[in-house]
Amino acid sequence: MKKLLTGLQPSGELTLGSLIGGISQSVKYQDEYDSYIFVPDLHAITVEQDPEKLKERIRKNVGLYIACGLDPKKNTFYIQSENLYHANLSWILECNSYMGELSRMTQFKDKSKKVKNVSCGLFTYPVLMAADILLYDADLVPTGIDQKQHVELARNLAERFNHKYGDTFVVPEPMIPTLGAKIKDLQEPTKKMSKSSDNYKGTILLLDSEKDIRKKIMSAVTDSDNKIYYDEEKKPGISNLITIYSVLTKKSIKEVETHFKDYNYGNFKKEVADVVVKVLIDIQNKYYKIVESGIIDKILDEGREKTIKIAKNKYEEVLNKVGLGR
Ligand code: ATP
Ligand code: MG
Repeated sequence: MKKLLTGLQPSGELTLGSLIGGISQSVKYQDEYDSYIFVPDLHAITVEQDPEKLKERIRKNVGLYIACGLDPKKNTFYIQSENLYHANLSWILECNSYMGELSRMTQFKDKSKKVKNVSCGLFTYPVLMAADILLYDADLVPTGIDQKQHVELARNLAERFNHKYGDTFVVPEPMIPTLGAKIKDLQEPTKKMSKSSDNYKGTILLLDSEKDIRKKIMSAVTDSDNKIYYDEEKKPGISNLITIYSVLTKKSIKEVETHFKDYNYGNFKKEVADVVVKVLIDIQNKYYKIVESGIIDKILDEGREKTIKIAKNKYEEVLNKVGLGR
């Protein structure tokens, strides 16, 4: 069975973008792939984090993964920092990565503009991500468009290593959704909706109250021509709402455009809000039951045991090939 791997940083509360671009794709493939879903907490500290909030979010995210439809019987869940092989392999890969290629990563360019002191970890983050993927021989990495360049780096590093030291790593494929690969911020619809954004009004959180979800969608930035059709360039705000509606109702863009042909923006937004509320309230009900059941730690303990064994094998193979240790 081929392997799938994905993770969402506990760098902020999970958003509608996390669900559509990240989690939903893995849900779709969980029957066909041996799936590894992890919490990349080491990635989160590439930028400043509050330790207490970070710890809280790690467990919370796993609860949300499950509430969003990732079945613990079909997926292996684990926490990156509990498996020391991730950071160890990352070091070896760093020694086979070049400053030039990492300097070209657009996410580094964007994120380093937003912080006062740019950490070295923010720069080498894509190498750690490559280690996360290559340790498990993952064939497929579902991701939003923003991470495509990082998966391409993982492919390059795998090929470079295989060429230099002999066949060791599977070269992974990114899996980008055809629709919803970049859900936009509701207040700045040319930018990605992001969980580490401080724009609360533009970001829908999976655990937002019904009132907040409705308020955020009703006040989403649009345009003034009052016509509802998809055009990312001319109508980024409306196109974003059409995308959200289309993905959540599984209707094509054409069908959605036809459905809303005679609506005004107010009525259109209200119906988009209805759909988002329905999906998120259902996830929230499931989430609170999962938290109450106390199963999260048991699932994570099992995942840790299983993934440490897999990672140890791969890491020892790498050590041997590189000539490290005895
Ligand atoms: P951060 O701002 O801390 O980088 P993030 O919101 O970008 O957080 P990540 O944990 O970096 O979230 O990404 C997790 C996964 O979710 C990735 O596959 C990413 O491509 C996807 N993703 C995140 N935000 C969106 C979005 N707005 N639209 C589509 N996919 C998204
Ligand atoms: Mg991100």
